[in-house]
Amino acid sequence: MGTPKESVVHGSTARPQDLPSVDQLLRLAGPVALLATHGHTLVVKEARALLDALRAQALAGTLETVAVQHEALGNALAARVQARLAPRMRAVLNLTGTVIHTNLGRALLADAALQRLLAVMTSPNNLEYDLATGSRGDRDSLVEELLCTITGAEAATVVNNNAAAVLLTIAALAREREVIVSRGELVEIGGAFRMPDVMASAGARMVEVGTTNRTHPQDYERAINANTALVMKVHTSNYAVRGFTAAVDEATLAGIAHARGVPLATDLGSGSLVDLAHYGLPREPLPQEMLAAGCDVVTFSGDKLLGGPQAGLIVGSREAVGRIRKFPMKRALRMSKLPLAALEATLSLYLRPERLAQDLPTLRLLTRPAEAIREMAEALLPAVQAAVSPRFTVQVVPLLGQIGSGSLPVERLPSAGLALAPAGTSKKGLGTALDALATALRGLPLPVIGRIAEDRLLLDLRCLEDSGPFVAQLPLLKERLS
Ligand SMILES: *Cc1c(COP(=O)(O)O)cnc(C)c1O
Repeated sequence: MGTPKESVVHGSTARPQDLPSVDQLLRLAGPVALLATHGHTLVVKEARALLDALRAQALAGTLETVAVQHEALGNALAARVQARLAPRMRAVLNLTGTVIHTNLGRALLADAALQRLLAVMTSPNNLEYDLATGSRGDRDSLVEELLCTITGAEAATVVNNNAAAVLLTIAALAREREVIVSRGELVEIGGAFRMPDVMASAGARMVEVGTTNRTHPQDYERAINANTALVMKVHTSNYAVRGFTAAVDEATLAGIAHARGVPLATDLGSGSLVDLAHYGLPREPLPQEMLAAGCDVVTFSGDKLLGGPQAGLIVGSREAVGRIRKFPMKRALRMSKLPLAALEATLSLYLRPERLAQDLPTLRLLTRPAEAIREMAEALLPAVQAAVSPRFTVQVVPLLGQIGSGSLPVERLPSAGLALAPAGTSKKGLGTALDALATALRGLPLPVIGRIAEDRLLLDLRCLEDSGPFVAQLPLLKERLS
């Protein structure tokens, strides 16, 4: 088997018969090296796909002769193999101004959590093994004590995410019975999680009380009957009811529910474990406050303000958490060892609150002073201007970001960044120019995600702690824009 001869081609477009067979293609020098690196399965599959695509072009009369030359074919095959192996889930730069961005993976893991993952995922571990007794252990016990220490709860358990925590809590405590909830708290959060549907999925009958804007203690008192299994409070994490409003706080509601022998559960959604007001940030209710107010169960997310992996945390009384933990659905919703290890490491950071604003990326980003962000924007301005001129002009601008992920929906975070505006474009061409710029930014090896507002593309630099990787891509951006 010799190396196939370079095809003799006629004219500027190639014909199907100018293409090599799969076997011939794989005998070329480049493909031989690809086979040695990646093996037969992947390379042959991509070679077939490449030749099919080229044949279709040839039949359509659109295949250039240069494309069938040996080196070009080898390069095209290498590119296909590389593209097939390239990860679909990739790192991006979040310059949207929303710190906990649900579409961009929410909280960033702390170094401590990453180190822990490396340390315990590449070897066997004691996930369900009690090292003291040598007998079977319980995976929840790995984080229960930490959660109880931090929140003051009697007991705690964890599941896959907070949606699962809410579903499980309602199912375990109120299946085939009634759950009372205020009409002002029937939230829908992204991804089709709607409180009425969750109640139905959990097999509970939802009893709505009050109105959209006002719910009073008597509304709950009147609704509780022998069939009531649970009173539920839901934190309105992604909207605010403003104006003529009234809601019953947890302490009052706990008194009402407990006097009638009914437990109270609160879904906090985000559930920050530290008082954000200490850091000059808008305040979110804490799970520890909800427990102190008398809630029997509090549920919250692991990857929102807590700053850890995806997880649903359930803290509360020994009695209620015990019933939740024993409910059969718990087994289907349990956490896997990967996020569990990251969660334990993240929770440990809360034992050293003085260091939290450095150690926990979410809090570090949220507490970055607007002034430091503006200085970074000033420093980046000349390089960014050079990359996008003459098509766009760049300015340093004050911006308002947000915490995100259903936390504190109406509060804004003073921030700063760069505003890129199309230069000398008619009003009509603005949208097209901005879309082209946004597409070019997203197309970079480390995609840059900004936001378009008021005829400008805004890059909020709050989440850009290290500008190096961003600056390194500017020459490529310039090339692609010209
Ligand atoms: C975010 C949120 C949830 C769901 O939490 P996940 O961890 O995303 O499953 C449930 N309830 C409220 C109020 C929320 O804000």
